[in-house]
Order: sequence, then C-alpha cells, then structure tokens
Amino acid sequence: MSRPRRDPRAERKAHAVPAARPRFDLGATPSAPPPRPRRDPRRALAAATVRDTPRLRLDRMQGESRPVAEALARPLPRPEAPAVRRVEAPAFHVLAVLDAPDGRLSRLDRQVLAAARILADARKDEAGAVLALGARPVEGAGAAGADRLALLPALGADDPALALAALRAVDEALAPRHVLFGETGVGGDLARRLAVARREPVMTAIEHFTARAVARPTKGRRAERAGPPPRLMTLGEDRVADYAGLPCEARPLDMEVPAVPAEAGVWDVETIVADPASLGLSDSDFVVSAGNGVTDFEGFGALARALGATPGASRVVCDAGLMPREAQVGASGTVLAANCYLALGIAGAPQHLQGIAGCEHVVAVNTDLHAAMVERAGLAIVQDAQAVIPALLALLAQRRGGRP
Ligand SMILES: Cc1cc2nc3c(=O)[nH]c(=O)nc-3n(C[C@H](O)[C@H](O)[C@H](O)COP(=O)(O)OP(=O)(O)OC[C@H]3O[C@@H](n4cnc5c(N)ncnc54)[C@H](O)[C@@H]3O)c2cc1C
Repeated sequence: MSRPRRDPRAERKAHAVPAARPRFDLGATPSAPPPRPRRDPRRALAAATVRDTPRLRLDRMQGESRPVAEALARPLPRPEAPAVRRVEAPAFHVLAVLDAPDGRLSRLDRQVLAAARILADARKDEAGAVLALGARPVEGAGAAGADRLALLPALGADDPALALAALRAVDEALAPRHVLFGETGVGGDLARRLAVARREPVMTAIEHFTARAVARPTKGRRAERAGPPPRLMTLGEDRVADYAGLPCEARPLDMEVPAVPAEAGVWDVETIVADPASLGLSDSDFVVSAGNGVTDFEGFGALARALGATPGASRVVCDAGLMPREAQVGASGTVLAANCYLALGIAGAPQHLQGIAGCEHVVAVNTDLHAAMVERAGLAIVQDAQAVIPALLALLAQRRGGRP
C-alpha cells in the first residue's frame, strides 16, 4: 500500500502570507448602485382609496377595490330577530297564577313560571303551553317561560270570592292539566279556595319539585308527603331555579277570558298604610341601613322616613348604641327578605351580606370603590354618605313639590 507523497513546496506556498495586502483605493470612482424605484405617495393613496362611498376608505386589497366598493354599496342585511320559542297548538295548558304585587314579577312568580315550564315540557310526544294569569300586565313573562298571557283583573280584587269566581271560570273553560300558585298570602289562599270550590286535593308549600314527582314535609317536618305532580299545587320559595332557556312568546291568549259578574261580597275596603318605622325588618320590603360610615344619624332617620323605608344598621352601629339592637341586619341580626336595600357607609362584611342575600336590589353608598358592599350592589354611589343623605332628601322634597 503506497502513502500519498507530500509536496513540501506546495505546503509552504499555501501557508505563505501574500506580500501585497489588498487595499481599498479611496481615489477610485465607486461603481454606481442600481437605481431604487421611487415611491409616489400620492399615487399609492389614490390607488388604495375606495371611491363612491360617503367616507374616505382605504382598500387594503390594493387595486382589487371594486368588489369591496360593491360590497359596501350593497344594503346591509337586516339583523335577525332574536329567536323565540313558540308553541302553536298546545296539547294542554299549565296555568301559572302570578302574584306580581306591584306589576312586576316577584322572585317566586318567576319560580312558579319555571315550574310550570317544567310540567309543560315534561313529555316529548306532546307540547304543553304555559299560561301566565295575572291581575295586571307584567313585563318579562316570556323570558321567565310563559307562552301565553291572560289578564284577569278580578284576581287583584279585594274580595277573594270575586277572584275565586274569575279563576274558577278560567279553570273550567281551559281545563288546564296543572294549576300552580306561589305559596304566598294571596296565592296560597286562592289555591286553597279553588281546591274547596272544585272539591279537589291541593298540595301546598311544595319543597321538592320535578316533572315526575313533588314532595312536601308533613307532621312538623318529621315525615314527607310525595307523589306525582297533582293538578292543584302551591310552590314554596326557592325550590325551582328560574327558567333559563330560549325566551318564550308570551302572546295574549287567543280565547276570550270568561267574565264574572262583579258582585262583591265586600263593600268597603280601606288600605291601611303600615308605618315602616314600626314594621319588623324581616317584613319590610324596603330597608335603609346605616353603617360605620354614617355620622349624621338625624339625617339618616329623616331619609328613612322620607323614603318610607324601615331603618336598619350594621353591627358596629348597634354595638355603639347608635341604633337599637333590633335594627341589626346580618347573620346575627335579622335576615331580610326586602325587595330593595339601601346601604349607607357599610363595608359589606360576610356576616352582614348573609343578612341581605335575599334582597333583589341593593344600592350602596360608600367612599371606598372596592368595598364588598359596592361589589354586591346593583347600583353604587361612591361618595360621602353625609353628602348623599341631604342630596337625596332635597331631591325627594323637590319631587313631592314641597309636600312632606
Ligand atoms: C360572629 C360575628 C357575627 C357578626 N354578625 C354581624 C351581623 O349580623 N351584622 C353586621 O352588620 N355585622 C356583623 N358582624 C360584624 C362584621 O364582621 C363587621 O365588623 C361589621 O359588619 C362592619 O360594620 P360596618 O360595615 O358598618 O363598619 P366598617 O367595617 O367600619 O365599614 C365602614 C364602611 O363605611 C365606609 N365609609 C367610611 N366613611 C364613609 C363616609 N363618610 N361615607 C360613606 N362611606 C363611608 C368605609 O369605606 C367602609 O366600607 C359580625 C361579626 C362576627 C365576628
């Protein structure tokens, strides 16, 4: 085997540094660079501008502006109406008798409608319709699950016999599969009257509710009565979740609601307005509370009187003796069922918030934007309570035109 022969001369030449170093010739004329195409900004803007539109628009597709201009010239498609659930020819009706005390659906009304919806949708082979029956028009019945609405002014009558006669006429004309009431003073009473008049059983204050079975406690809660949903029933509070499906139609009932002769058994009705200050906190519908942020208790009392609200307080205020102990709102005070709660200078400690968990509308006045009460409130005024109290009083006086 032969080894490749080394060439020492060639190796030396390869390692040798060339004698003459390459140098730049600074005097020489540089070779001209290739010419760069110049941009004409005016022409670029003109090319990108979409014509025939009221506003100056730039077409980012550059040059292909025709389709864009055409698309812009085309009339915009109409926004689709929100989907509504319709039941055209119901196989049966489920009647939900609403209390709606001040023309608005109460929390229990919404739950009664949701329960009626469950019964109407119970079977796949036949579609039922929920008929909401109230004394006056209410908003939001469709979103709460009502397919039909019917007004029965006699339901709001002061004479329960008149309300019963009107309800009985509708019940006989429609023959609904179920009739649901809320277990309230008015609804519960009407349900029992209807049961007696129709000689039918009624299941009251239902605590467990499904499409197949309902149950209520008996014998002082030591036993339970359960069975399939009866025809007449009243529902306890917070036993059914609100209806959360597609909004229903809530169109007026397409049949005449039977009229009843207006012969009242009650001849004289007087509404006695209760003094909110003497009302128990748990019975009041509107509570105004003072917290540690309130120093003007005279103004606070005047505001509660002017608003017709029951005064309440946080524990700190009661501990300081500024308000009586009965006024304490919270876990170790009174748990409210008020519709509206106005909290002045209250931080919103967990124990206090437990007491207002059932309040539908909460308004907070607090200097601290990050207070838990401000977070809980549907409306918050981030301001000194001592400034808000006289401002509210002045506004109320102005609205009443100087009347007290
Ligand atoms: C076992 C236990 C049970 C309890 N039970 C209850 C209960 O049932 N009810 C209850 O309320 N508490 C209860 N507490 C007390 C609770 O924890 C709080 O201490 C109390 O609620 C705080 O009251 P407050 O919000 O009025 O006062 P603070 O916590 O002092 O809050 C005052 C609020 O007012 C605001 N403020 C200050 N100045 C102004 C101003 N000029 N204008 C407007 N806002 C202002 C502040 O930003 C603050 O948010 C309980 C505590 C314990 C340990």
